[in-house]
Amino acid sequence: ILAGPHDILKLYNPQGNIINISPQLSPNSPHCCYKLEVVAADCNSELLGTELAVALGFDLSSMEKRLQSLEKKILTEAGETPAIVHEMKSQVESFREKLENVEHLSWLGLFKDLSEATNKPSPFYHKRTLRKTREECEHVKEKFLQMSSLEVSEDVRQYLKTPTFDNWQWEDAEIMVLLQVMYADLDFISAFNIEPEVLQQFLYEVYQRYNNIPFHNFKHCFCVTQMMYGLIWLTDIRSKLDSIDLLTMLTSAVCHDLDHTGYNNAYQINARTELALRYNDISPLENHHCAVAFEILEKNECNIFRNLTIEQYKRIREGIIKCILATDMLRHNEILNKFKSILPEFDFSNKDHKDLMMIMIKVSDISNEARPMDVAEPWLDCLLQEFFNQSDMEKLEGLPVTPFMDRDKVTKPSSQTGFIRFVLFPLFIELANLFPCLEQHIIDPVRKALDYYTEMEKALETEKQNRTQSDKTGKSDILSVVTGTVPLETLRVKCLAQGHDGSKWDLNL
Ligand SMILES: [Zn+2]
Repeated sequence: ILAGPHDILKLYNPQGNIINISPQLSPNSPHCCYKLEVVAADCNSELLGTELAVALGFDLSSMEKRLQSLEKKILTEAGETPAIVHEMKSQVESFREKLENVEHLSWLGLFKDLSEATNKPSPFYHKRTLRKTREECEHVKEKFLQMSSLEVSEDVRQYLKTPTFDNWQWEDAEIMVLLQVMYADLDFISAFNIEPEVLQQFLYEVYQRYNNIPFHNFKHCFCVTQMMYGLIWLTDIRSKLDSIDLLTMLTSAVCHDLDHTGYNNAYQINARTELALRYNDISPLENHHCAVAFEILEKNECNIFRNLTIEQYKRIREGIIKCILATDMLRHNEILNKFKSILPEFDFSNKDHKDLMMIMIKVSDISNEARPMDVAEPWLDCLLQEFFNQSDMEKLEGLPVTPFMDRDKVTKPSSQTGFIRFVLFPLFIELANLFPCLEQHIIDPVRKALDYYTEMEKALETEKQNRTQSDKTGKSDILSVVTGTVPLETLRVKCLAQGHDGSKWDLNL
């Protein structure tokens, strides 16, 4: 390896784990050697400078030189350095600092600058394959296994328990580490004797079986699980339910959209897909997500429940099936009404508390709007993109088009205001009735989101009216030349009109 004294290096042991470079390291041998990797190079080094220029698309040092000569020229001509030059210089400086800094190497200690969002969704999903490729998976797996032995900081662990958590800052391998943290911090590892390798293999299989689609992807799985995790802590439900119930809830969230292909149940049924045929049009997707979950758990090396008793396993399987099937929105009112009816005499020791678990996963599944606006809004773009892909396909195949998915009918705010008023609020309010502490965490942000989209909707409406108004004025101007006072709405003829300036207009009204 070619490395200089200012380069940053990463050292791996033969198992591929990152280890500290220290004088205490035991010596290696030819058949059992450490691996050294240069992860950040000194920008001033000639060789790496050229490599960096190629990677960045521009050469930092030549840019700096050019800036210097320009500065000199301006100084001689103008007598003083203009402010813009100072500004450009400081920009170059801060960019250099960023390049040479170790902070962006988040895997080193799961460092995160939590104030800045990264990894916002890419709109180029159509360029990728639906299923993840092997290379893609293996790369992420390697990263995940390297990181999984690192301690996650206490700050991150606490942040992970809050509904304000920003998923966009984390890449897939890191997300798997965070999921691992959830299992550990809820004490599942010790309570159910889950071996770390089994949990890792399980999470990796789950990651693999979420597809490259705009919305129902691995990041959505994480968000739903993270919200469930947050709700568990916020409501202190650990004091009321046993750990089997909690394990059921968290694992259901992890598995609830496995192998989603981006087309909803209505499409599956109308297009008579394999899934619809297999499940006789009864929640084809949810049945499939659940079946894939247990397919993964059937493999011994992935079975996080393998040390449970038969009785425990039976209970957990029953619970997971119930929870995942409850995420079919077609059953929304049925489940909500049942929950409402038991709410007045809610009793955590009653077996009916299982319905509470269904409500919790339902809330988590549609909880994006309870997150901070800059986390929630990109998710809405993702959702609409998935909807539009479906409606485009429906149009192509001559299938009925679901109105709320039609790009010609839906706008961003209009898709949200109705959904929040008629679906989100009624559901969230019932859960907050049981846990009043949730009011500030999930109801208040949703209320803010509703205000935001209502305003946006109004603005769009005004704009539309203005446009129609100006269209009308324009048209009646022309019409008056030909017909006098014919009401525009009743006129459905193609006519030749003459404008004030004498030009001819071919109107199709
Ligand atoms: Zn979902």
